[in-house]
Amino acid sequence: MNRGSAEALTALVSRQAISDAVFRELVEALPVAIYMTDAQGRLTYFNAAAIKLSGRTPELGTDKWCVTWKLFLPDGTPLPHDQCPMAVALRGDDVPTGIECIAERPDGTRFWFMPSPAVLRDGEGRIIGGINLLMDITDRRNAEMEAKEQFRAIVDTTPECVKIVARDGTLLFMNPPGLGMIDASYAEAMAVKNVCDVIAPEDRERFRAFNEMVCSGQKGSLQFDIVGLKGKRHHMETHAAPLRHMDGSTVHLAVTHDITERKHAERVSLLLSAIVDSSDDAIISKDLDGVITSWNKSAERLFGYTAAEAIGQTVANLLIPEDRQEEEPNILALLRKGERVDHFDTVRRRKDGSLIDISLTISPVRNAQGVIIGASKIARDITESKRIQAKLVESEARFRQLADAMPQIVWTARPDGYVDYYNERWYEFTGIGRFAFGDASWEPILHPQDLQIARDTWYAAVHSGDPYNIECRFLDRRENRWRWFMGRAVPVRDAGESIVKWFGTYTDIDEQKQVEDQLRRANADLEQFAFSASHDLQEPLRSIKVYSELLTKRHSDKLSGEALKFMNFLRNGATRMEILVRDLLTYTQARRFDQPPEVTDANEALKTALANLSDAIASSGAAIKSGPLPSVAVNGTHLQQLFQNLIGNAIKYRSPERLPDVRLEAEQQTGYWVFSVADNGIGIDPKYKETIFGLFKRLHSSDEYSGTGIGLALCHRIVDRYHGRIWVESESGRGSIFRFTLPV
Ligand code: ADP
Repeated sequence: MNRGSAEALTALVSRQAISDAVFRELVEALPVAIYMTDAQGRLTYFNAAAIKLSGRTPELGTDKWCVTWKLFLPDGTPLPHDQCPMAVALRGDDVPTGIECIAERPDGTRFWFMPSPAVLRDGEGRIIGGINLLMDITDRRNAEMEAKEQFRAIVDTTPECVKIVARDGTLLFMNPPGLGMIDASYAEAMAVKNVCDVIAPEDRERFRAFNEMVCSGQKGSLQFDIVGLKGKRHHMETHAAPLRHMDGSTVHLAVTHDITERKHAERVSLLLSAIVDSSDDAIISKDLDGVITSWNKSAERLFGYTAAEAIGQTVANLLIPEDRQEEEPNILALLRKGERVDHFDTVRRRKDGSLIDISLTISPVRNAQGVIIGASKIARDITESKRIQAKLVESEARFRQLADAMPQIVWTARPDGYVDYYNERWYEFTGIGRFAFGDASWEPILHPQDLQIARDTWYAAVHSGDPYNIECRFLDRRENRWRWFMGRAVPVRDAGESIVKWFGTYTDIDEQKQVEDQLRRANADLEQFAFSASHDLQEPLRSIKVYSELLTKRHSDKLSGEALKFMNFLRNGATRMEILVRDLLTYTQARRFDQPPEVTDANEALKTALANLSDAIASSGAAIKSGPLPSVAVNGTHLQQLFQNLIGNAIKYRSPERLPDVRLEAEQQTGYWVFSVADNGIGIDPKYKETIFGLFKRLHSSDEYSGTGIGLALCHRIVDRYHGRIWVESESGRGSIFRFTLPV
C-alpha cells in the first residue's frame, strides 16, 4: 500500500462510490494502518492495523493528526504531532514522498514507518478531512541498518585503506587505517580538495585516468605512491570498483593496501640475488636432506653444472668424491643442531670429474618461525691459494737453506720489529735456545753499552721504514768475550709499498775493528813521533846553521875556496831541513785542534796570509785580487794556512812569461762554501792532479823550485778535517784553479 493506494481510497471516499459500511469493511481487512481525520485533524476513523501498529487505541474526536503516541524524525529529534506529515497535508502544503518517521508506542517500543497522507476535498475543493496510510518499514530499516553497520564494522576493522572518491576527485569517505596512511585526521582528510593532492606528483595523471575509468563503471587495480600530509611516501596498491552513490552518480570505491614493506622486501631480495649472482664464490642452498635448492652463477663456473642440472640433486651425489662421502652426514648433523661450519677446507668433484680444493662455510637457514629448514653454503676455490701457500713454504725452505749456508748471522723480523727467524750461525754463536725470538732473544747478549743505542736505532728504523746500520758487540759464548758486529737490515716491501718483512744480517767485524784500532794507534804514535822529532830537530839544526855561519864569517881566511863552498852547502841544507821540519810540524799539528770550530772571517785569514807572503808578492810583482769572502766555521789558523799555501804556490809556480795574477773567490752552495784560488802560472799536467796532494809529493826538483812537498798535503789534511774536499783544475802552461769546500 503506498501513496497511490491512499489517493485511490480518498477518491473512492470522496466520490462516495462505495457505501461507508463497505468502505469500513474493506479497510478493516487491510493489513496497513489507516486512519482518517476531519479538516481540523481530529481522528474520525482508524482500522485494527492502526491499533496494532501504534500499540494504542486512540480517542476519536479528541486525538489529533496521527494515531501514534509519540513521533520522532529519523535522526531521533521529537516531532510534535501538529507538524507531522498529515498535519502538513491538512494545511494544504505538499508533503514530499518517501518521508520516514519513527513512532514510539506507550510500551516504549519504537517502529519505523512511512506515512502517505492525502486530503479529502468537497465539491468546491475545500479540505474537509484527510486519510493517511502508515506503512511499517521497521524490518527494512533494521535490515538496512544492519547492513550499514556491518559495512562500517568491516571498513573500520580492515587494516586496508577504504575510500570513496567522486568522479571529480572529491574524497567522500576514508576509514581510519586510510587516514593513518596519509597522516591525517578525518576532518583534515575531508578538507583535501582533490584526492590527487595526496598522490605523488609523478602518479597523479595515471590516478586521474584510473578514477575516471572506475567512475565510468569498470573495476581495476593500480599501483601508485602517495605522499601523506606530513610528507611521508608510501607505495600503494589499490583495487577499485564502481559504486552507486546516494545522489545517483557513480563513484569509486577502493580498498588500498600499503605495499611499501613488500616493495622494500622485493628490492632487498632483488639486491640479494644480484649479490649472490655477482659473487665470485659459489653460493648454494640445500635442504636438510642435502638436496640442492639454489645454485648461483659462480657455482656453475666452479663445478661445471648449470642450475637446472644441479637443483634437485643431492650434494653427496653431485659433488662429493667417493672417499669423502662421510663428510655430508656430519655437516647435515651439525646444521640440524643449528651449528655453522666455518672455513672447512676440503675437496669436491667437478662435472668433468676433476677434483678441486675448496673452502666451505655453511650456515643453517631458518624459516620465519625459527625452524631450521636448510643451509646456505659458500664454496671458495682455494686451488690458487693452496698453490701460493705451497710455493711460499718452498721459497721459505730455500731461503733458510741459503741463510744457513751464509757466513753471517741472518735474521728476519715482522714489520713491527719482532724478530721471528735466525739462521744457524746465530745459534752456533750465541748458544741460545732455538725458540727464543723477539727482543728477548737478542737484548740479553748485547754489550750493555750498546744496548740503548741498538734498541733506539732498530725501532727508529722500524718506525721510519729506512734501512738500518749499526756496529755493536755481542757476547761470543764460545770464547766468552765480546765481538764486534756490523748489523744491517733492509725492509722488504710488497707491491703496495707496505713493509712485509725486515731482512737483516750481522757481519763479524771484530778482526777488522782490531786492525783499525791498531792502525789508529800506530798513526797516533807516528804523529807523536813526527811531532817530537821535528820539534827536537829544530835545535840541533839551528846550531848547525849558526856554527857554519860563524865558521864562514870568522875563519874564512883560513878556509879554502872548496871548504867555503862546502860550508855553504851545509848551511843551505840546514835551512832546507829547518823548513822541512817546520812544515812537518805544521802538518802533524793540523789534526791536533780538538776545540770546536770557531767562526772565522775569511777576509781576516786572507789578510794574515798576505802579510806573511808580502816579500814573495813584492819580489814577484804578483797581483792578488779577491771577491767578497764569507765567515766560515773553521779554525782561523787553518784557513790562513790554506790561503797561504795556495797563494804561495800560485806565486812560486808562476810563468816566466807573465807577472803572477791570483784571484780568490768564494761561492755558496747548500750547506758549504766553495773557495777557489786561480792563477796564471805554469799549470799542472792533469795526470798529477791527485798525486800532488800526497805528502812529500813534488813535480819539481829543489833546484827548479824550492819546497818540501808538504804544502798541498797540509791543505788536504785541513779540508779533510772539516769533511770538505780539495781538488785542482789545470792544464800545463795554462794556470791552475785550486778549489776547496768548507762548512758554512
Ligand atoms: P811544494 O813545497 O813543492 O810547493 P806543495 O805540496 O805545495 O809542495 O806542491 C806540490 C807540487 O804541486 C809542487 O811541487 C808543484 O809541482 C805543484 N804545484 C802546487 N801548486 C802549484 C801551482 N799553483 N801551479 C803549478 N804547480 C803547482
